[in-house]
Amino acid sequence: MKIIMLARNPELYTHQRLVDAARERGHEINVYDTLRCYMNITSHRPELRYGGEKITGYDAVIPRIGASITFYGTAVLRQLEMMGVYPLNESVAIGRSRDKLRSMQLLARDGIGLPVTAFAHDTKMTDEVIDIAGGTPVVIKLLEGTQGIGVVLAETPRSAKSVIEAFRGAKVNILVQEFIKEAGSTDIRALVVGGKVVAAMQRSGAGDDFRSNLHRGGSAEKIKITAEERSTALRAAKSMGLNVCGVDMLRSNHGPVVMEVNSSPGLEGVETATNVDVAGKIIEFLEKNAKPGKTKTKGKG
Ligand code: ADP
Repeated sequence: MKIIMLARNPELYTHQRLVDAARERGHEINVYDTLRCYMNITSHRPELRYGGEKITGYDAVIPRIGASITFYGTAVLRQLEMMGVYPLNESVAIGRSRDKLRSMQLLARDGIGLPVTAFAHDTKMTDEVIDIAGGTPVVIKLLEGTQGIGVVLAETPRSAKSVIEAFRGAKVNILVQEFIKEAGSTDIRALVVGGKVVAAMQRSGAGDDFRSNLHRGGSAEKIKITAEERSTALRAAKSMGLNVCGVDMLRSNHGPVVMEVNSSPGLEGVETATNVDVAGKIIEFLEKNAKPGKTKTKGKG
């Protein structure tokens, strides 16, 4: 197979692992900087170019599109889809998962457990929004936040109101969520590849931080998940339409609740904690599925 990986930084652990796994299995893989790709959007002959050369002849694409470049990155990916290159995750699915509100609405529609979540544009309704989320303590999240930045625990109605007002004043979108205290500053990340959970880890927050993000100093260990957690992760991946993703869940009193489905999960934490060759499983998935022109949407939508 000839594989193209769209990634800004080929040096990252995850990107190197994917390149090594592909080469070990005898495939050709080339990494292109997503933002340096440019397109010729012409009917019948969609083209992708890089440094004056046409990008052609690829069977599969591994999109590693960071949250800050979703807009341009999904356009580049769509172009490849229109050229008939099989995407590990489709551009539409990545777009869905990047919009926290949209993904929560889709997960809710499919009956997947979620923390009770409220959202409003108008700050006049702040009291009611806090009420809907079950009253304080509540977690207030920036819709555009990643790696735990912009996730705030407000313990009293007074602090919740001032945090909500501050965020709104800064003209950023937020959602207000029930605080799952019983999760005890831990969460579960299940790595899904092609309809299977291939690895799972539990992350714990550093010190007294309620956020368990590894980027915030949290630690990770291998964990055996329950059948219900496994099926929740798989249903969440399916609901988003993602072949490969990291499903973040909290263990609540009312069963597993999904916080987020990540379409470009990092592999360092999970491979180190579990010793599973996730990169190899991703390449194996492409071997089974990357047939020319097999993309479902061919860039539509
Ligand atoms: P990000 O996408 O920025 O990582 P998350 O929504 O995943 O933000 O939240 C970061 C961390 O905060 C989670 O990993 C979890 O440990 C904690 N957290 C988030 N939402 C809740 C919640 N509703 N109840 C309890 N803890 C939460």
